[in-house]
Amino acid sequence: MTWTVVTGGASGIGEAVTRRLRKAGYSVVIVDCSAPADNTDSNDIIFRQIDISDEAAVEALAAELEESGVRPEALITCAGVLQRPLPPDKLSWKEWDLVQNVHLRGTYACCKSFGSRMASRGGPGAIVTVSSVAGLQSSPLHSYGPAKAAIAHLTRSLAMEWGRQGVRVNCVAPGFTKTPALDRGMTRKVLSATAMEKFSALGRLVESDEVAAAIEFLISPASSGITGVVLPVDAGNLAAAPWRAYESGEPG
Ligand code: NAD
Repeated sequence: MTWTVVTGGASGIGEAVTRRLRKAGYSVVIVDCSAPADNTDSNDIIFRQIDISDEAAVEALAAELEESGVRPEALITCAGVLQRPLPPDKLSWKEWDLVQNVHLRGTYACCKSFGSRMASRGGPGAIVTVSSVAGLQSSPLHSYGPAKAAIAHLTRSLAMEWGRQGVRVNCVAPGFTKTPALDRGMTRKVLSATAMEKFSALGRLVESDEVAAAIEFLISPASSGITGVVLPVDAGNLAAAPWRAYESGEPG
């Protein structure tokens, strides 16, 4: 049994990753602060309700799994919260800290507990962190964007730290992806489907399973020569950015 750990596996991109990995024959430890809707009563799945920004809880889980003989060979860090687009004078420290803690501290805590164990065993190990196009270009998300940029940077540092011990560390940077979190943003009219579709080369949003497919590739032997990269899965959101300056903003 090849065990993987998927944070945020109860919803959205993490749920799609869990589904895809199980279908490919992996066993999955879902780590999420909310319970998954799907039944987790199966011997290829373990669910633990944990806040990933609580480093002691993350470390206790890694130790518990190791003791019980579950040695994850992959970690995918999907858990996250979105942020409201607010100017600095309106963005509270509470919200700023929450976003930093879940994304940057939480990703680091999971890498520290699970990645260090993979490295000390000499591998094999593969970690995929989750950044965002908001971490690669500016946006009105003054905590989320910097946290996602830091995750991309951390990915490269950890790739170098653990590469010689058989652990690869890569990152995906999704564009606007159809998930419950994005739906909530559209319901609150923070995000517009028309604008998101227009500012992409493919003229559409990304499907959760498209991000999951890239993640499956990055933990599989097919990507054995790849480490320290940040792979956008964005339907061409980054490629579309300079077109916004032109009147039509669209091809043709
Ligand atoms: P989602 O809300 O559908 O799923 C996120 C999951 O993370 C939920 O199950 C939630 O319970 C869990 N979670 C949140 N905080 C947690 C914590 N402290 N500890 C443990 N679990 C926690 O969101 P999504 O859209 O699937 O986002 C997944 C990841 O992808 C996030 O990191 C997000 O920033 C990133 N992302 C999403 C998009 C998008 O358009 N949806 C774009 C770029 C990046």
